[in-house]
Amino acid sequence: MKVYRIPPVSSALIFDMDSTLYTNPEYARDQIDLPIRRLARIRGRSFEDMKGEIETYRETWAQTQGEKISLTNAFKDFGISLEENIRWREELYEPSRYLKPDPVLGKTLDILASAFSFALVTNNPVLIAEKTLAALGIADFFTTIVGLDTCKVSKPHQAPFLKAMEALGLPAGECIALGDRYDFDIAPPLELGMGGILVDGVEDVYCLEEILAGSG
Ligand SMILES: [Mg+2]
Repeated sequence: MKVYRIPPVSSALIFDMDSTLYTNPEYARDQIDLPIRRLARIRGRSFEDMKGEIETYRETWAQTQGEKISLTNAFKDFGISLEENIRWREELYEPSRYLKPDPVLGKTLDILASAFSFALVTNNPVLIAEKTLAALGIADFFTTIVGLDTCKVSKPHQAPFLKAMEALGLPAGECIALGDRYDFDIAPPLELGMGGILVDGVEDVYCLEEILAGSG
């Protein structure tokens, strides 16, 4: 875990979802591999070949543009529109195949809910977010979900974070963003004036009560 900034008075936590509210390397890998496998099939290419080309594209992008490109935006450059990408994810991802209820996370959120409002900002579609939260047994904690289909842009764009702020009815200075990828989940909120905490996985979320004590 790395704490970048905790505002003196905070009222809301804006969570990333994947690899933040759960840790599951197999599902994380499949979320990248499943759409690449479909793209490879459509293009008549081997999976390894397609995966290699997309990986190289994303690495080159990061080196030349100075920021990382989301899988969704990389797919756009390979001819798959945002709308198609959303549909693929809805068809290919089945969170309940990988995830189960997490009572420790539930207890943590229950304690934090007495001091903070919550929002979820994810590069997955809202439908997948709802299925994920349900599989983890924490759906009741999140009334504000900003997904890929909400703003039609993916993080690191600032729009999903601004949308979450608007839904929460709070200024940036009272929000703390939490996520596992600095470039996507932490850098944009810090630029907006939010707090930011980089986590290594859900195990770090279990410790938030201690970290945030006195700031809520
Ligand atoms: Mg994540």
